[in-house]
Amino acid sequence: MTQDLHHFIDGKKVKGNSGHFGDVYNPATGEVTKRVPLASADETRGAIAAAAAALPAWAATPPAKRAQVLFKFRDLIIKNTDKLAELLSSEHGKTVPDARGSVTRGLEVVEFACGIPHLLKGEFSEGVATGVDTYSMRQPVGVCVGITPFNFPAMVPMWMFPVAIACGNTFVLKPSEKDPSCGLMLAELMMEAGLPKGCLNVVNGDKAAVDTLLTDPRVQAVSFVGSTKIGHYIYETGCKHGKRVQALCGAKNHMIVMPDADMNQTIDAAMGAAYGSAGERCMAISVAVTVGEETGDEFVRRMTPRIQSLKVGPYTDAQAEMGPIVTKESHQRILGYIAEGVAAGAELVVDGRGIKLQGYEKGFFLGGCLFDRVTTEMSIYKEEIFGPVLNVVRAKDYEHAVKMVNEHEYGNGTAIFTRDGDAARDFASRARIGMVGVNVPIPVPVAYHSFGGWKRSLFGDHFMHGMEGVRFYTRLKTITARWPSGIRTGAQFHFRSGAEH
Ligand code: NAD
Repeated sequence: MTQDLHHFIDGKKVKGNSGHFGDVYNPATGEVTKRVPLASADETRGAIAAAAAALPAWAATPPAKRAQVLFKFRDLIIKNTDKLAELLSSEHGKTVPDARGSVTRGLEVVEFACGIPHLLKGEFSEGVATGVDTYSMRQPVGVCVGITPFNFPAMVPMWMFPVAIACGNTFVLKPSEKDPSCGLMLAELMMEAGLPKGCLNVVNGDKAAVDTLLTDPRVQAVSFVGSTKIGHYIYETGCKHGKRVQALCGAKNHMIVMPDADMNQTIDAAMGAAYGSAGERCMAISVAVTVGEETGDEFVRRMTPRIQSLKVGPYTDAQAEMGPIVTKESHQRILGYIAEGVAAGAELVVDGRGIKLQGYEKGFFLGGCLFDRVTTEMSIYKEEIFGPVLNVVRAKDYEHAVKMVNEHEYGNGTAIFTRDGDAARDFASRARIGMVGVNVPIPVPVAYHSFGGWKRSLFGDHFMHGMEGVRFYTRLKTITARWPSGIRTGAQFHFRSGAEH
């Protein structure tokens, strides 16, 4: 029996009334387990209205009091980590330890947001002119919106709403319709933590809901994480309607393997970064750029048996290292890319197609794939596959490898594996990429730093969480004050610098 999900508006569960539903799958069995209501424009406006009504009181709540809610929320996340991870895996398909890890990374953002009284402190300059002081403050922007992808249904919402709410904003979350349950559970936990009703709402839906969020004048800021095509649309539409927008998008993350790299460490790193979560991570390594023929040969020779022995299984299998692909449609898309790679002449050294798991014949499984001798003209190199497919591109030297990284249209993450400090330092400085790892394959910044890419991996000016998140969710105001006891200057008709006073 399929279960019908709901929205979460003004502190309570609300049944969908648009008559439209999306299917939520268990990707391991291929069965539809739930139906998610797809909100109409009217239902979406209801969520915005709840957030707008809750805004004045929440914005006026002292930051230390807002932090108390987040401290309680932190405890509730810790208490419910296993439950959240299980729920996440059942809809997404990733292994439970991987799901638990992602909940913990989201929790770290909550912990960062608990320090909001300190983070909101302004600057003060005494005596900018005689008897004149200047100070700054950061104020909430208003109703904020989060539109999130399927691949991190707990962590990505937690990159957004804890910081936004800590800053005094109210929030409407539109989770991925593929795995919406974690978003709903997080909102219920925030209520349990003492957040007033209306401060965090969840509206489930597709384009109709998103378009309403992007155009409603009550919405002030939009955070998006997802594919580049949709992210670009979100950025353009949101900006056109006068909103502040940050849209974090697709990726093609290159890992440069230098001839002097520690190969044991490099192979372990490449395995986890390319095949963890079935490659459905925006920071997954999808291209290994090996420098020199011998490095390439050794890399491929040592990766091959490791990929062939990957343990692929359902999330209920504690031994599984990699779960299924999220939907049949994504599975088909990835198979299409593999066929294109073969047709273009890349060498498919490990072919994960055709994998069958007993009892899970209808699941969306795909084994790890490895392409060698990929070239920069091929679609499997240029486009984001978002699956367990690693491309090896052979570079003749370090400069050739750097050129590839810098010329790719995406700029989310990259890594260099080397023992050479000079090469690592040069690469960190020259890479036109938002997040760089040195012998770290997935350089996702910790919560008190900020996450984001360059080029077509991010539209907008702000990264997420850390101080960039605080800046995005606040407006800066600067006050210049003079008091009657200051020196009288008489009427002034020309601009004067502080030094003239
Ligand atoms: P997606 O772009 O299909 O969906 C993201 C969100 O946009 C969802 O909430 C979805 O409902 C909504 N959406 C989809 N189509 C829409 C349309 N036509 N109009 C308006 N809204 C629409 O992305 P996805 O498949 O859920 O997630 C995978 C993508 O997300 C990958 O490209 C991945 O690289 C990217 N991603 C990026 C980051 C990052 O930080 N840069 C992190 C995670 C995922």
